Amino acid sequence: MENSGRREFIKKFLSLAVASPIISYPEIAAASTKKSKIHYTFPDKPFQTIYKKGVKKGGKLVIIGGIHGNEPGAYKAVDILTEISLVQGEILLIPRSNFTSILAFKRGYNGDMNRKFAYIQEKDPDFPYVKKIQEIIESFKPDAVLSLHDGYGFHITNKNAWGQCIVIDEKIYNNFHLYKTANKVTNHVNRFVNRENWKFPVFSTETFHPDTNHKEQQKSLTYFCLSKCNVPAFCLEVSKQLPSLKEKVQFHLLMMEKLFELFSIQITPPFNSIYNDFLEKFRRKAKAEVVVNINGRSVLISGRKTLKIPRGSEVKFIDFKGKSGTFGVAEGVNLNWRSFHMGKTLKVKIKDDFQSLFSIYFQPV
Ligand SMILES: [Zn+2]
Repeated sequence: MENSGRREFIKKFLSLAVASPIISYPEIAAASTKKSKIHYTFPDKPFQTIYKKGVKKGGKLVIIGGIHGNEPGAYKAVDILTEISLVQGEILLIPRSNFTSILAFKRGYNGDMNRKFAYIQEKDPDFPYVKKIQEIIESFKPDAVLSLHDGYGFHITNKNAWGQCIVIDEKIYNNFHLYKTANKVTNHVNRFVNRENWKFPVFSTETFHPDTNHKEQQKSLTYFCLSKCNVPAFCLEVSKQLPSLKEKVQFHLLMMEKLFELFSIQITPPFNSIYNDFLEKFRRKAKAEVVVNINGRSVLISGRKTLKIPRGSEVKFIDFKGKSGTFGVAEGVNLNWRSFHMGKTLKVKIKDDFQSLFSIYFQPV
């Protein structure tokens, strides 16, 4: 998200920016401590949280996507909800809870984030994000937390697979009838499923049992919600092995449609129409524009480009304009770094989540 001041600033200099293929940049002496290299700076990665409230009183949900970065059905489904309005109830959306892993298209670029909710070291690059998620749940006090995933396989045919099911930590925990709720949701979704192996069962990991087979789940987000916040939580899992992103998003929306009804949350436009909108947007290629400041001079780049840059220069990425998943990934550089020096040509891939849009090459001269 960008603030309006920043937008104004960008508008102002855009009128001055010259988009010619070869640009000479003012050389700045001693700007960099390593004069033979170029110093690059990236902005903080966005951590988007969106709150929506309806006029009518209803339930409250926190909905979290993208804890695992290679599960696009999950974070795209939450992202779609950022564009709707609420008639009844309240929702707080965190579409890209692990944006670093999303950009890397890895389950966990810094290890599995869903094993860091019982304990996380302060030096862990995921620390600020895990803490933010925990603080949001603690302060918002929702009626439930939904954590969306694209798991492996199909649970109905393979009990060791986590795809295509709703995962709960216990059938009943305190006064929360997790199984009863999850079962209503799977019954609803299964009415739309014509293949037997795509049907959704409820999978209880019985994480609170002393002899549980899933001790690792005691470090998860849903276990944190139940054990530390007394908030019921559900893992909505579609399968990674569904034919395309479309089916993954569709099943996530179907699960949320029923959960919204059960928690007295009403949205507009309705779920079937937001899915059709998604299909429409899915067909169009995402576009992006990048604002880069080189030794104090800003340029706007919207397609593949090679820039010849004097050694010792300062290159600052100011803004990645596009959809919410737009950001730059410097090839061969640790994705957690915001600032680094590079003496050879640097390729920066401009991405929209897992999709590469174009690349910018910085050639030292
Ligand atoms: Zn997952």
